[in-house]
Amino acid sequence: MSNRIAVLPGDGIGPEITKEAVVLLEEIARLFERNIDIRYGKIGGIAIDEEGTPLPEATLQLCRDSDAILLGAVGGPKWDKQPAHLRPETGLLALRKSLQLYANLRPVSVFSSLADASPLKRELLRDVDMVIVRELTGGLYFGTPKERREGEQGLEVVDTLYYTEAEMERILRLGFEMARHRRRHLTSVDKANVLESSRVWRETAERLAGEYPDVTLTHMLVDNAAMQLIKNPSQFDVIVTENMFGDILSDEAAMITGSIGMLPSASLSESGPGLYEPIHGSAPDIAGQNRANPLATFLSVAMMLRQSFQWTREADVIERAIETVLAEGWRTRDLSKPGESCLTTAEMGAKVREAL
Ligand code: ATP
Ligand code: MG
Repeated sequence: MSNRIAVLPGDGIGPEITKEAVVLLEEIARLFERNIDIRYGKIGGIAIDEEGTPLPEATLQLCRDSDAILLGAVGGPKWDKQPAHLRPETGLLALRKSLQLYANLRPVSVFSSLADASPLKRELLRDVDMVIVRELTGGLYFGTPKERREGEQGLEVVDTLYYTEAEMERILRLGFEMARHRRRHLTSVDKANVLESSRVWRETAERLAGEYPDVTLTHMLVDNAAMQLIKNPSQFDVIVTENMFGDILSDEAAMITGSIGMLPSASLSESGPGLYEPIHGSAPDIAGQNRANPLATFLSVAMMLRQSFQWTREADVIERAIETVLAEGWRTRDLSKPGESCLTTAEMGAKVREAL
């Protein structure tokens, strides 16, 4: 069986970091005697420049025909002032929407050798190991009406928080399933003291809880969750929440680990290919300098092997290799102190491959 992986390097540091990730993938496939079939597609600014659109039809088709997608990053100052249909980010949003990638997963754990990079005290970090499950295709981002209009008091603006019960159930169920396979604690985050959508969210979570007697469900208001992430981050196992709350909380949680260059993510649909990408952007300020940290992309590859192919051992081996390299003290520029010597993107790639 061929396992097809679409690789979309994108813009900025995207090509540098995905290049190393592909070499790593090929090395893993060789070591474990797995067949993989890697195909490249264009997305973002490079696709605008070469094809006139941020998501060419051929790229979308390639993704549909693949078992998983690995993305670098899109965007850069060159395209910032373009109209929406010619912006790199529009291509990524369209890809997520077309593939119905409704669930965004961000695991947050701390590599002990990097604890100094976190703004939190070391004691607070010891047992941090959580996943944030964010709903990605509904809520305030897509609800209509969404408009400015003239009212009696002048300009009025409207955004609409729209969800169907089915959409809530779909993401909550994924939260329960993930919790079941981890430490069996699900924290459902809402604002049920104010929002009607949150009240239905909470009722839906309660109803599903009956099907998951092995999972402990806790409800938490989003403002309290923002505080608890800083006060006591190790209390969380799986956090599940709607689109906007998840956007904010997952960035907050990401910072607990200290470096944006270390965090992977997965975006999943019900049956199609998953999309895996580092949470950071295209970092135009360091693009083309062979300085970017490729580890978030490597960790995204590990997530891909585990989620889309059920290749658990392969994923473990990648994660342990990264741990080893960090424990030995090897750092890319973003992780090192000023004046300290550090590795290039390609050198970090080689170190991790050596440690596999
Ligand atoms: P986007 O809007 O695409 O998320 P952004 O403007 O929020 O982009 P990033 O592109 O993520 O920001 O960059 C933020 C900062 O982090 C920059 O200074 C960048 O150089 C740095 N950075 C991001 N990713 C990495 C990485 N992999 N290695 C080193 N530094 C990085
Ligand atoms: Mg950003």
